[in-house]
Amino acid sequence: MPQYLFDRVWLVKKWLTKSALKPRKLLRFEVPICEHCNLNCKGCGAFSPLVKECFIDVAEYEKDCSRLSLLCGGTVEYIDLLGGEPLLHPEITKILDITRKYFNGQINIITNGIKLLSMTEEFWSGCKKNNIAIVISGYPIRLDYKIINRTACMHDVALEIRGFGNKLTIWNKFPIDLDGGQKPFRNFLSCFSSNFCLHLEHGKIGTCAQPFVIRHFNAHFNKNMTVSEENFIDIYKVSNLDEILSFLSRPIPFCKYCNLKKIKRGIKWDISKKEISEWV
Ligand code: SF4
Repeated sequence: MPQYLFDRVWLVKKWLTKSALKPRKLLRFEVPICEHCNLNCKGCGAFSPLVKECFIDVAEYEKDCSRLSLLCGGTVEYIDLLGGEPLLHPEITKILDITRKYFNGQINIITNGIKLLSMTEEFWSGCKKNNIAIVISGYPIRLDYKIINRTACMHDVALEIRGFGNKLTIWNKFPIDLDGGQKPFRNFLSCFSSNFCLHLEHGKIGTCAQPFVIRHFNAHFNKNMTVSEENFIDIYKVSNLDEILSFLSRPIPFCKYCNLKKIKRGIKWDISKKEISEWV
């Protein structure tokens, strides 16, 4: 079944079974280790084209991993290290070691692949040693997948190419409702990200990335979409993992800003011009 059809069926099922409201059994999360990007897609969901330079602080990340590991006994379903573009982080090998030091389970680096062939031996052996897989999200750019594949094989590192590889030419737009007029509960039930793309940043975890990354949009376009503390849970203030998992399965105030009814599918993929129309 083609991926887009699979996603649609999955979403309908999610809506019908109200699965977003069921607390997950295992923790999983994504971490933006470098929020700027070397590709800058139009309408990027992480607002990376609007970010000048923003790297995760390695000491703070280790502290957050240690705390979460204590809460979940070190077992996670998976962790995605992503961006922006994660391979731009100058201390990525340290981040790989830290992540594996605290967690069992699948760990992936989600990359556009542009920088892969210029990564150091230290990086590749860090992936191998820590059993960390590389996942390339396909964009319509020239990447030599044969050489990339061979390089990953040579270093005994698992590699996955998602989407259509470099044949992807279309894109989806997920518009923001600047007035916050959407229904949070309804949105939460039918959203792809809710209770699925769990996001860790600065000691807090949320049901999706949106309330974290919107700060880039607000700052660039001088907007003021409010993001209250009710949108995240502080991993240092909870007493157990169940508190986190239960919080992540409830709608958040920020859901009122996602205009899911106006999602535009199949628009032409392009590089961002940093125009507000790419996001609203
Ligand atoms: S804030 Fe938006 S992206 Fe996040 S769960 Fe709610 S509707 Fe989905």
